[in-house]
Amino acid sequence: MTTALITGVCGQDGSYLADFLVPRGYSVFGLERPESSGQKMRSGVTLISGDMTDAASVAEVIRTCAPDEVYNFAAQSSVAASGELADETHAINADGVLNLLTALRTHAPNARFFQASSSEIFGAVTEAPQNETTPLRPRNPYGYSKAVAHAATAAAREDGLHASAGIFFNHESPRRGSGFVTTKIANAAAAISRTGSGVVELGRMEARRDWGWAPDYVEAAWMMLQHDSPGNFVIGTGETHSVDQFCAAAFGHVGLNHHDHVRVNPDFVRPPETVEMVSDPRLINETLGWSATKPFDEIVAAMVDAALERLDG
Ligand code: GDP
Repeated sequence: MTTALITGVCGQDGSYLADFLVPRGYSVFGLERPESSGQKMRSGVTLISGDMTDAASVAEVIRTCAPDEVYNFAAQSSVAASGELADETHAINADGVLNLLTALRTHAPNARFFQASSSEIFGAVTEAPQNETTPLRPRNPYGYSKAVAHAATAAAREDGLHASAGIFFNHESPRRGSGFVTTKIANAAAAISRTGSGVVELGRMEARRDWGWAPDYVEAAWMMLQHDSPGNFVIGTGETHSVDQFCAAAFGHVGLNHHDHVRVNPDFVRPPETVEMVSDPRLINETLGWSATKPFDEIVAAMVDAALERLDG
């Protein structure tokens, strides 16, 4: 039986990966912070308490689980909040990965390691689309922390560890956190559809993202660890849509016109990107046969339907 350790198992990506691995016969350990362990038990997952920012704690976790595969999804995952949470973001997203890699070198050198890198490592891009050779120019604490972890993963690979990084572009689902614009819009469309009135305040409507379906992305992570040679792979759809298009699809799904229910609030406006952030996922497509499965409109509809279900309790 293959043993997997998933860090951040209660988050969007970690929980989808657990849902993917358990039916495939894996023995799955899920690492959660001491304060959250035991609160959100997932079936088939053995929760294990540990602190990514504490090297001794991480080493103990690796010794206990003796994993064949390690998937690192533990993160302070909000770009927007990373300015105010710079220390925490660095401690979990960067130092935590160094702790994991050190523990693997010592206690499980044959384990395969997946690092959830992010398109934010590209930062102030000068070329579009972005691929595995795009220079790293991160521009916020989240991006800096993920760039350190990305470099550490590459160094571990050069040292002989089977260590891969998936450079994930934005990926959404009903389990996406409420701070992300997609969930914010889906929740608003659902709530407003119940009364027919109400307004949601957003930032830049023209902002564009390469939005994919989160379950596809964790499957890409799994495929990377089944491949004999570790490496870096960009994971995305290769297409972008605007916040305005997301609103149109979400409100349209519940029979409303988003122009009647969306207002721009300057507090939510972030500086615009000068070059579009959009993935070139050809390498993973050609090497592993992976491609995004769910069209944009279906992602939006699934998120709004889930928001409606949450309203119904
Ligand atoms: P990010 O790409 O990881 O920062 O994911 P977000 O979902 O937080 O933001 C995606 C894009 O939506 C960014 O370009 C934001 O500037 C834009 N955006 C526009 N309005 C909002 C808003 O009200 N909240 C958030 N979070 N993002 C917004």
